[in-house]
Amino acid sequence: MDASTPTLASWEERAARLQIRNQALIDGRLVPAASGKSFDDISPRDGRVLTRVASCDAEDVDRAVAAARRSFESGVWREQHPRARKAVLLTLARLIEENAEELALLETLDMGKPIRDSLNIDVPLSARCVQYYAEAIDKLYDQVGPSGPGSMSLILREPLGVIGVVVPWNFPLMMAVWKVAPALAVGNSLVLKPAEQSPLTAIRLGELALEAGLPPGVLNVVPGFGETAGQAIGRHMDVDMLTFTGSTEVGKYFMRYSGESNLKRVSLECGGKTPHIVMPDAADLDRAAQEAAGGIFFNQGEVCNAGSRLLVHESIKDEFLAKVIAYGRSWVPGDPLDPATRMGALVDSRQHERVLGYIAKGQQEGAELKCGGAAARTDSGGYYIQPTVFDGVSPGMTIAQEEIFGPVLSTLTFRSTEEAFRIANDTIYGLAAAIWTKDISVAMKAAKTIKAGSVWINCFDAGDITTPFGGFKQSGFGRDKSLHALEKYTDLKSVWIEL
Ligand code: NAP
Ligand code: MG
Repeated sequence: MDASTPTLASWEERAARLQIRNQALIDGRLVPAASGKSFDDISPRDGRVLTRVASCDAEDVDRAVAAARRSFESGVWREQHPRARKAVLLTLARLIEENAEELALLETLDMGKPIRDSLNIDVPLSARCVQYYAEAIDKLYDQVGPSGPGSMSLILREPLGVIGVVVPWNFPLMMAVWKVAPALAVGNSLVLKPAEQSPLTAIRLGELALEAGLPPGVLNVVPGFGETAGQAIGRHMDVDMLTFTGSTEVGKYFMRYSGESNLKRVSLECGGKTPHIVMPDAADLDRAAQEAAGGIFFNQGEVCNAGSRLLVHESIKDEFLAKVIAYGRSWVPGDPLDPATRMGALVDSRQHERVLGYIAKGQQEGAELKCGGAAARTDSGGYYIQPTVFDGVSPGMTIAQEEIFGPVLSTLTFRSTEEAFRIANDTIYGLAAAIWTKDISVAMKAAKTIKAGSVWINCFDAGDITTPFGGFKQSGFGRDKSLHALEKYTDLKSVWIEL
């Protein structure tokens, strides 16, 4: 490390100087909640209160939706020339890059992920996502139908109007941007609700968008609780579409809210229980083991597509699991602000207890605890858990079925490819899957047989902004990333012309 590399001490110093925005952003202005209420935003790093954040409820959501509706109907954004909208979003991407250290610091303090990840992954990928959709704006064409000589048919894509965006706390900025960028790119106006645990980067994103030249009212941010602000967006009669990332349980609420209100379109990115399959012929078992450890311990295991079920062929299980545990030793829970830390704190005390509860349940149901299994850094005041590996897990156990959303790996074995695929599909989820093998036909069979939105072959969690991401089954529907994401933020209009 040279003298310019930020150290733990320099991050702490920056943290002490941070000007945290803690209000709602409605119609271009930072405002308190109409009720005057606010809530504690706690840092899981040490359990201390970072700030108090405006606690928005139905009244604030009404104002935000009204501002979004006004901006949409006025055409102030959607009717700008594509080149002009592109310029605004390119500026936003640049501002995210220019403010990378501040955004990374806010993210890490707010939800506990290591600063090296927020700085090297979350923030740059968020900037790249905005840039990608900005670049797409002036390259999208509508269609002319094959209508025959006496007529002409136009198939046009139109923005939907007001979009509600509700996101979780595990990648707060990135999950917001995966939705905000494509929805803005095609001309919609938005109301964004970040998770109560991690509202800070969303508010800052809204501010940077204004600075980039996005007209006031086009992107509104309403921090608050799910049952109040989230539900108010879901049930609002003037929200045209709801795009959500979060748990399957809450995804189902949004379907209900839609059915009981205005039948707003709903797109859901929900939970997962990704099978990570290792065949005995894998070319590089060391690399596979390294990815298996990273696939569950990265981001404290708080990843929708975390490789939480390790499926290993019986003949290599002991050897392979020993390697995974050895690689797992480099994932030591540490201070998220220390640039050397690879695993930070779980998001809050509730999640901490939940994950410890699953670990206890695994032991009660007879799985064999191979390493970890306990809280860590308990004197910090924060919410840390040791990287944990279970062996001897059977498909029916709770830790093989439910999404733990923490650094807990469940190892299962299989004897045949068919059995591996059967176990892989034995879940309500279908977000992602991975397989390591040299056999192309086994790899392709896995890709065809496993019901999942993404299948990784000889890699894990690979892909970039050009690849669609989303789930099958109860992992939801609709896709983020790639040009396909634009489909859900637009609707088709057919125009038939008699010549
Ligand atoms: P969550 O509890 O479902 O919350 C997600 C969002 O919904 C939050 O903003 C939350 O607000 C809000 N919400 C909660 N209850 C609500 C209600 N009754 N009505 C309306 N809104 C409500 O999920 P989480 O715990 O934040 O995040 C973890 C989950 O997200 C995991 O299941 C994970 O797999 C999933 N996830 C999926 C993807 C994907 O792309 N498929 C990506 C990342 C995460 P509050 O903060 O107030 O609860
Ligand atoms: Mg927080």
